[in-house]
Amino acid sequence: MYILLMGPPGAGKGTQAAKLVDRFSIPHISTGDMFRAAVKEGTPLGLKAKEFMDAGQLVPDSVTIGIVKERLAKADCQTGFILDGFPRTLEQAAALDSSLNELGIELERVVNITAPDDELVRRITGRRICKGCSATYHVVLNAPKVSGTCDKCGAELYQRADDQEATVAKRLEVYQDQTEPLITYYRDKGLYSEINGLQPIDKVLDDVVNSLRGDRA
Ligand SMILES: [Zn+2]
Repeated sequence: MYILLMGPPGAGKGTQAAKLVDRFSIPHISTGDMFRAAVKEGTPLGLKAKEFMDAGQLVPDSVTIGIVKERLAKADCQTGFILDGFPRTLEQAAALDSSLNELGIELERVVNITAPDDELVRRITGRRICKGCSATYHVVLNAPKVSGTCDKCGAELYQRADDQEATVAKRLEVYQDQTEPLITYYRDKGLYSEINGLQPIDKVLDDVVNSLRGDRA
C-alpha cells in the first residue's frame, strides 16, 4: 500500500496518518522525521542537509530527494508507506517518480484530505497547548474544564504564534499555491482522491480506505 498523503494544516492529516499506520502496519514517513533521522544517523546526505539547516538555508532538492530515496529503500517500506510532506513541487514529484521507478515501487494513491478555509482557520486558531505537559486542547472542540488551564497538570495554556489568525491565513495561502500544481499532476495520472475532512474522524478514514480500493471519492 504505497500512499501519498496531502492536506492543509488543520484538515486532520496527522490523525489519519496514525490510523492508517495502525490499519495497514506500514510506516508513516514525514519529511521532518526523515531529515532528523538522516542527520542523527550521520549519513553523507544527512550531514549535507545539516550544513544547510545550520546555515539557516533551505535544503536543496538534490539533497532532499536523496534522503527521501534512501528512506524509501529501507526494509520497512517493502510492503508500503504513507509519505507525508513530500513532494512539495512538480520538480520533486518528477524526482519521486523516477526514484520509485528505480525501486520498483508503484504509487497507489494520492489522498488529499481537505476542508474549507474558514473551517481550517477555526480549527487552527482554536488550538491551545499546555506550557507544562504540551497537552493540546481546542477552545470549542476539546475545551479544558477551566478555561486557559490544563486538565492534566494545571499549567497555563498558550497559543502558538503559528496558530494565530493572521499567520494561519498566510500559511493556508502558501499551502494552496504550492499544492495546486501537484493536484493537477496526480489527477492527470489518475491517482488523485480528495477526501472531505469535515466528516467525523472514522468516516474520513473509511473514505480514505475506500479510495485506496480504487473508488474515486
Ligand atoms: Zn498540562
